[in-house]
Amino acid sequence: MTEPVTQADAPGLREAVRQAGALIALVWRTAPALSCAIAAATVLLALAPALAAYLAKLIVDGVLAALETGTPEDRRQVMIWVAAEAGVLGGMLALRRMLAFLKRVLHAELGQAVSRVIFDKTLSMDLCTIEDATVQEKIILARKHAAARPFALISRLFDTAQFTITIATFSAVLWSFHPLAVFVIVIGGLPLFIGELRFSSEAFRFYTAQTAEMRRRTYLEGLMTSDGAATERLHARSGDAVLNRYRALFQSMFGADRRLQGRRAWAGVALIAASSLIFVLGKGWVVWETVLGAITLGQMIMYAALLKQGQNTMTSLLATASGGYEDLLYASNLFTLLALPEGVRRGALEAGPKPGDGYRLSAVRFSYPSTQRPAIDGLNLHIPAGQRLGVVGANGSGKTTLIKLLTGLYLPDEGEITLDGAPIADWAPEALFARTAALFQPFGRYNLTAGENIAIGSDLESRDTQEDALWAAAEAGLAAQMIREWPDGMDTRLSRQFLDGRELSGGQWQRLALSRALMRTQADTLILDEPTSALDPEAEAELLQTAARPDRTTILVSHRLSNLRAADRIIVLERGRIIEAGSHGELVAEGGVYAAMFDTQGAFYRDEN
Ligand code: ADP
Repeated sequence: MTEPVTQADAPGLREAVRQAGALIALVWRTAPALSCAIAAATVLLALAPALAAYLAKLIVDGVLAALETGTPEDRRQVMIWVAAEAGVLGGMLALRRMLAFLKRVLHAELGQAVSRVIFDKTLSMDLCTIEDATVQEKIILARKHAAARPFALISRLFDTAQFTITIATFSAVLWSFHPLAVFVIVIGGLPLFIGELRFSSEAFRFYTAQTAEMRRRTYLEGLMTSDGAATERLHARSGDAVLNRYRALFQSMFGADRRLQGRRAWAGVALIAASSLIFVLGKGWVVWETVLGAITLGQMIMYAALLKQGQNTMTSLLATASGGYEDLLYASNLFTLLALPEGVRRGALEAGPKPGDGYRLSAVRFSYPSTQRPAIDGLNLHIPAGQRLGVVGANGSGKTTLIKLLTGLYLPDEGEITLDGAPIADWAPEALFARTAALFQPFGRYNLTAGENIAIGSDLESRDTQEDALWAAAEAGLAAQMIREWPDGMDTRLSRQFLDGRELSGGQWQRLALSRALMRTQADTLILDEPTSALDPEAEAELLQTAARPDRTTILVSHRLSNLRAADRIIVLERGRIIEAGSHGELVAEGGVYAAMFDTQGAFYRDEN
């Protein structure tokens, strides 16, 4: 792979602590009662092992005393300790089960909460931001780790607290044997900790840097499996070529991954051996002291158990802490996304100072972030309210970009666009978008019912009261007859992705999209970007008659110039500039680019008939 990949930076310690704090706050806001229950169970579970070890000591020493004295009280006392130990061990089992259940609930709730945070962010991004490939990459990373990593981190925080309390109680007891015994536990776990920490950040950098490759892999997988790509795939037999690319990509990704995992495994073996050796030495020391008669048999069993369990707990603690660090690194993708700017700040205007002035573009220039040449290059245009404007131009001349600028989805880099006398950026986005009804290219194809396809974005909730509006829009968008013919009418589920779904042709989808645009009857500007690309000429003529209401501004992008005859004004775009403007008659008389295009199309239709 020679393509450069983005190198994600691991957050520094201070930033990591801040992010962990933010996640804890999110958990607390999401599920306060659940968090308290988990915390309480964690503390109880943390204290139990030391208590159990102490009861085991009491039992052994009690048995020895009972054997020596033979009194019924001593025998009864031992049985009480046995019952108490059984109670503690049974309680621990029950608590562990309960804790696992509570954590599962928290997992689901936190996953949902984090997803909401992500959706809130992506829904507030403007079009330019969300179309940016690096932003998309960050969204993918955040979503990929959204449910699992933040929860894993929180779960590990609880585990860390539990293990720390357990080790503290173990240390307190071991201290009475010898302070150095505490040292044995701590030192024994250290090598593992340092090793894991090193590999955690290496793995994070490695996998994050592979995001671009992963995206490409998913894309190639889609090419080989999706139905949408099947027609060309089968016809051109391109499957093998795609498969070869997929194989090469997989091998380069997998090879590097395997090397990393291999090194991690070998380092793990060496470090575990080192820490185990330290604990074996500690245990030998305890047994030796017993043989010397310095401590009782009960104490030996207790200290040995504490050393053994201390070893396990310390290993768990360090594995948890370093795993938590890894989780934090992945969860930091969420914060990277949240820190992104959402786009240019918009104003709050609901109306302009000059109603009826319409759209004015002066010296507007706009470039896509990834490109050198401006898509719109110094454009001047006035579209007064009520005008019917036709937009013509070759592919790539800037028609769609102009529409996105007019609707306010993009803001110009230079120059100004005003609506009713106020700059577009000063408008409240909702008020601005409510002014236009638009059919974009490409338009949406929702895997919902036919009715929902038309109503989405207007007001899905009050669907019943909208039945008339729905049919009126379907009528205007030339979809009504087709929907009437379906057995379930407006309730027909669309797209083959559902078993009971119906797949539509391009032209049928376009009729639904048109109806959806025409559902916005309050909008005073109708913008249609190639509304008829998949419609036959008769349908097209019918549509334009009904859609273009006299009280509305209509902006029509079309390749079929015969449609534009009725337009008040037509502009011809080339490389983001207006090269000709005027009425149909004027442009034909002018004998320029438009006239030549019209001539060619006229000849085509004449020949056809
Ligand atoms: P038209 O609608 O006339 O076919 P567009 O407005 O879609 O033209 O495109 C104008 C120019 O901007 C073209 O050169 C096209 O390659 C480029 N362009 C369009 N969309 C994007 C995008 N999302 N990112 C980068 N360049 C784009």
